[in-house]
Amino acid sequence: MRTDPTSSLADTMNPMASEARGPSASYGVVVVGGGVAGLSSALTLVRAGVSACVLERTDYAPWRPGETLSPVAWAELRQLLAPEPLETGGFLESHGLEATWGSERPHHHSFLTNPYGSGWHVERRHLDALLARQAQSLQVPLWRSTCVTHLEREGHGWRVRARTPQGPLELRCEALVDATGRSAQVARRQGVRRRDWDALCSVSAVIDRPSGFQAQHLVVEAAPQGWWYAAPLPGGRLILSFLSDVDVLQRHGALQPSGWSALFSTTRHLRERVGGLEAVTRLHVRRCETSRLEHAAGAGWVAVGDAAAMWDPLSSSGILKGLRTGRAAARALCAALGGHSGALEDHARQEAEEFSRYLSARQAHYALEQRWAGEDFWRRRLDAPAG
Ligand SMILES: Cc1cc2nc3c(=O)[nH]c(=O)nc-3n(C[C@H](O)[C@H](O)[C@H](O)COP(=O)(O)OP(=O)(O)OC[C@H]3O[C@@H](n4cnc5c(N)ncnc54)[C@H](O)[C@@H]3O)c2cc1C
Repeated sequence: MRTDPTSSLADTMNPMASEARGPSASYGVVVVGGGVAGLSSALTLVRAGVSACVLERTDYAPWRPGETLSPVAWAELRQLLAPEPLETGGFLESHGLEATWGSERPHHHSFLTNPYGSGWHVERRHLDALLARQAQSLQVPLWRSTCVTHLEREGHGWRVRARTPQGPLELRCEALVDATGRSAQVARRQGVRRRDWDALCSVSAVIDRPSGFQAQHLVVEAAPQGWWYAAPLPGGRLILSFLSDVDVLQRHGALQPSGWSALFSTTRHLRERVGGLEAVTRLHVRRCETSRLEHAAGAGWVAVGDAAAMWDPLSSSGILKGLRTGRAAARALCAALGGHSGALEDHARQEAEEFSRYLSARQAHYALEQRWAGEDFWRRRLDAPAG
């Protein structure tokens, strides 16, 4: 599916243009944030008969990270969109993973025998725009380029004020979904704190795919200061990312193109694949520390996806987690709105348990790499307690 997120959606998805709901309206649930987790929640809610709308800060044009979908994430996406087919035009089939981790010898993991089939490499904006279109076809109002400015309790529900390109918007709702990603803006406004386990940050460049890079899979390479990955993207592009702690990145000048390129030139397998880099002028920097909210839900609100908890991109599971927690939180909200008072609390507890399992898996995976155990990046992960 080839979708230009900057064109047709702009004209068709702004409910302000619709006279059915004016600039002030009531919904069962307002979803703040229209990424994969928020859209998964909105679609699940509407299918369950709950009126829901989405407020999204961007117009889906800016670059977003997260470009590899595992076979099971793909299956989850198909299930979310069913009965609409998930067209694969514009996505690139992914055959697996090649990782140089723990030794100089690359390990291969193929999706060939995976019961869910292949994975996929996606242009992330297109994926989110695809989900947004599906939400639109189910009559989910979606305000783009819209930022929440004010949240206030009103009776048992909420009054939400937002700024849209057309002017101010006021909505009332019974519950809120915080799908604002790492910033967790709804939860933070309730005073909920976030706990960090590390200071991981990604520095990525999107370049034309060199002719020598034949791999149609994810390539990962551990390095003394952190780790790299490369993934082919649709349209003959390639993403190259370096991940390390913020202070390590600063010390090596890796937040700037020259320092980043110098570190890249010390890789072994990736440099062979990619060859000499053309001058990289633009880097995308994203904080992606392992972290979670101390409470993923409260009275009349629930956090989903990265807002609730962020997993290391090493897991390649953020999109899957966003789709799943979006759906699970929507079901918990349906139960809560139907009178099951403990539903959101149960959901938050399950999320916390899932996060503990993730922490153990993360520690076990980093422990496989012992070659640079004395370097800051690796020492911190090898020494850290899992919980
Ligand atoms: C370098 C890197 C590589 C990654 N690679 C992968 C990968 O290969 N596979 C994978 O599965 N995961 C990957 N991830 C993780 C994945 O990107 C995230 O887990 C996923 O995007 C989380 O989705 P989300 O919907 O919770 O949050 P986001 O994608 O962050 O979406 C949040 C949305 O909320 C909107 N928003 C924010 N604030 C407001 C506001 N105040 N009002 C309205 N809207 C707001 C934003 O514009 C955005 O649309 C990677 C992450 C990084 C950093």
